[in-house]
Amino acid sequence: MEGAFLSMFDDPFTRVFIAETDGQIAGYVRLSFNRDENRLYVPSLYFLPDFQGQGMGRRLLEAAEEYAAEKSLDELWIGVMVKNRQALVFYRKVGFQFVREEPFTMGKTTVSHLIGYKKLGKNTQLIQKTYITFDGGKSLKSLSRLCLELLSEQKKTWEDLREGYKLLKNIRERDVLCRGFFIRLQQNSERIKSSLADVGKKSANERRCFLCLDHLPESQRGILYQNDYLILCNPMPVFSSHFTISHLDHRRQTVVEHIDTFLQLMSDFGSGWMVLYNGPQCGASAPDHLHFQAIPSGQMPVEKEIRGKKRPNLMTQVGGVSLYRLRDVGREVIILEGDNPMAVGGVFKGFLKALGEILLVNEEPMINIAGFHKKRKYCLVIFPRRKHRPGAFFKEGDAQVVVSPGVIDMGGVFITPVEKDFYRLDAALAEAIYGEVSLEGEIVERAIGALQQSP
Ligand SMILES: [Zn+2]
Repeated sequence: MEGAFLSMFDDPFTRVFIAETDGQIAGYVRLSFNRDENRLYVPSLYFLPDFQGQGMGRRLLEAAEEYAAEKSLDELWIGVMVKNRQALVFYRKVGFQFVREEPFTMGKTTVSHLIGYKKLGKNTQLIQKTYITFDGGKSLKSLSRLCLELLSEQKKTWEDLREGYKLLKNIRERDVLCRGFFIRLQQNSERIKSSLADVGKKSANERRCFLCLDHLPESQRGILYQNDYLILCNPMPVFSSHFTISHLDHRRQTVVEHIDTFLQLMSDFGSGWMVLYNGPQCGASAPDHLHFQAIPSGQMPVEKEIRGKKRPNLMTQVGGVSLYRLRDVGREVIILEGDNPMAVGGVFKGFLKALGEILLVNEEPMINIAGFHKKRKYCLVIFPRRKHRPGAFFKEGDAQVVVSPGVIDMGGVFITPVEKDFYRLDAALAEAIYGEVSLEGEIVERAIGALQQSP
C-alpha cells in the first residue's frame, strides 16, 4: 500500500494527519494539545472500512507519536467509550493503558469514557508483561494448569514471590468450634499490610495503584485473559496457590457489570478451583482497580457446610436457578446454583438489585462472592454484608482485634496477622464479628421475597 501523511491546519493546538492511498483519502488522526496539562490528546482517529486490517490505525498512531516526540512530549493521551470494546482492545495492543473512568457528555447523553495514555519510546508494556495468552481452552492446557505453570516460573525469577510462599510454610492454623459451625484461624503476619490497608477514597487516589501495569514489579508476568485481564501471582498468598485476576484498565471495583466474566472464569478454572470477589467497601485491597482472585477449592470451612445435607435450605427457584440459604452458620450465606451461566448471572443481578432497593443505596450493596463450577453447575456463594470491619478493629491498644473480613474470612478462614489475636480469638468473639459484619437476616429475607415477586 502506498501511503503518504500530510498535515493540515495552522492552529497551533490542533494537528491533523491524513493518510492517502493512491491519491484517495483513507483515514485521518486528529491531535489536540492541551496547554494547561502539557498533554497531547488523540480526540479522533478514523479510517474507511475498506482499509480495515491493513495496519492503517497503527500507522496513523505512529505519525501521532512522531509528532509528540518532535514536541518533546513523552506521552500520548486518549479517551475511549467504555462500550467500544473493539477500540479498547486495539489501543491496549499498541501500548495504551487506561487509568481513569470519566463521564463524557455530548448533548443530552452522557457516556462513560476510559482515559488512557501510552508512554512513548517504551516497549509495549502489555507484551512485556504477558507470560502467555489463554486461548479460551482450545489447546490441551486448561487455565488452572497454565496458572500453576506461571506460578512455578515466577517463583524462579521473582524473589519477593518466592519469599512470600516460603513464609506461608511458617503460618500457624487452628480450628475454633462455634455454635453449629467452625472457623479456621490463620496466623499470617505477611497479611498485616492488607489487613490494615487504608481503603478510603482519598487514599485510593493518592496511593500508587499496585495493580496498574505501570507499577507491577519488574519480574512480574501474567496470563492474558480475554484481552481484558491479566492473571497474576499474588506475592502475599494465603493458600498454596493464590492468583489475582486484574483488569488491564484502572477502573472501579464492581461485579454487576462483570458477572459474565466472573462466571466464565469459574468454568475456565474448572472444578477444584474457586474464583473470589470482594466488594470495593468490604475487603477489596484495591477498591479502585477491578480485580478477582482464584484459589484451589477445599480451603474454606463454608465449602463443607454447603455439602452438608441439612444446611442448604432451598428458598426459591427462578428461571432454572435455585436459591439456597445456609442454616446455622452464624452469618448470612446465599447460594445461587444453575447450569446456565446467563440465567445464574441474571438471578444474581436481580438479587443485588433487590438488596440495593431495600438498603436504599445507589452503589453496589456490600457483598463478597466465592464461585465455583462443578458437575456442570455454576455455583455462586454470596455473603451479603452490613459493614467491612468490626468495632473491635478500631479499638485502641490491647482491645484492638486486627481482623478485616473479606471473602476468605467470610468463607471461614480468619486471617489474624497479629499473634495475640490468633490466640485469643474464640467462638464468642468470632460469632460476634460475623454478627456485626454480616447483613441482617430480615433484610436478606426481604430481598429473596422481592426476587420471587419480580417477573
Ligand atoms: Zn490501577
